[in-house]
Amino acid sequence: MDKEIFLKAAKEFGTPLYLYDLRVIKKRLEMVERTLKNVEHKIFFAFKSNSNPHLLEFVKSLGFGADVVSMNEYKMAKLVGFSPSNIVVNGNGKITDELKVYARDGVGCVNVDSSEEIQRFPDLSARIAIRINPDVDAKTHPYISTGLKKNKFGVNMESASAIIRSLPSNLKLVGIHSHIGSQITDISTFVDAFKSLKSFIDKESLKLEFVNIGGGWGIDYSHKGEGLNLQDYQEKVVPILKSFGVPIHLELGRFIVGPAGYLVTRVLELKRTTSKNFVIVDTSMSDLIRPSLYGAHHHIEFFPDGSEEIVADVVGRVCETGDTLGKNRKIFKPEIGDLGVIYNVGAYGYAMSSNYNLSLRPAEVAFDGRNLKLIRRRETLEDIVKLCDFSKNSKQ
Ligand SMILES: *Cc1c(COP(=O)(O)O)cnc(C)c1O
Repeated sequence: MDKEIFLKAAKEFGTPLYLYDLRVIKKRLEMVERTLKNVEHKIFFAFKSNSNPHLLEFVKSLGFGADVVSMNEYKMAKLVGFSPSNIVVNGNGKITDELKVYARDGVGCVNVDSSEEIQRFPDLSARIAIRINPDVDAKTHPYISTGLKKNKFGVNMESASAIIRSLPSNLKLVGIHSHIGSQITDISTFVDAFKSLKSFIDKESLKLEFVNIGGGWGIDYSHKGEGLNLQDYQEKVVPILKSFGVPIHLELGRFIVGPAGYLVTRVLELKRTTSKNFVIVDTSMSDLIRPSLYGAHHHIEFFPDGSEEIVADVVGRVCETGDTLGKNRKIFKPEIGDLGVIYNVGAYGYAMSSNYNLSLRPAEVAFDGRNLKLIRRRETLEDIVKLCDFSKNSKQ
């Protein structure tokens, strides 16, 4: 992205600001398409990674289906125009009333998370897949690993067999589902997981419409080439996917929108203590919690480039020591008022933001290569106060 665009966006919409480059979303989709060109597939967009309705509309226009994990995400999918048959429902702890809505609407597939969920299922016909937990280590951060037997998601192979043997007649098993974690860059994890799915499907002689392999494709947060190697994926994983003999469904979030997002911020203060340099910026863990929550690394740049190199922690103003956006970063010493850009924040950025310290959520802006468009205005204190039905006058 041209630095001029960051400057223009900051000038027009203020900081901190989430900026999305729609061209990158398109490019990422093309990368996936190229990798999977030898196997029939359909891609569902993981709403939880970024649920801005304008962005979702754009994603829909590119031909994605919708992957939702809550009733509100489901409602949002319908709001932006996805038909229920183009929606796949995930998540644990689905309640009966929700399952009723999904069944009545005729959603594409409900990925069942437990045998308890089967027992709770209303007596309505529905298309389901069973979420299998293949007990593989995704070698990612424990908080975003989901395919180990100690994790809360899915069922193991034995339970899946039992569910299949006693499936009520209103439920049609159309697929098998598995999602083993997020930000996965280790090819062997995928290989192990999908091989074990394949042997399960063979052993049970299942006749399926598709196999849903979830998401989890890792991206290059450090800008040092740590992302998923697509060439490797094509050579080592795609042959296993082909061996299923049915179309593959994928649910991708991070890989599609992560690299399309930038958090534009401004330098408020340079602080020097006896042990460290701090660059204090106008964004924080309230806007982007991944570094604080997972120790996640996001590439950060300041500009215009200074001349003196320093090592500094980039921090926000939230009253938590953990409010660090980047640790020990070698950067050109910025000046107060300079812009900083935090990269790869399009997924699990705004979506995980909060009002902690009464931080107001940033504005969101989309760039299509020509124009900047405000797709969500900046939050105001009034927005928050309104929820509490509170005014000073009511107290008099
Ligand atoms: C979060 C999630 C995804 C998307 O994961 P990414 O790492 O963003 O691709 C897909 N499927 C399920 C069930 C999920 O919970």
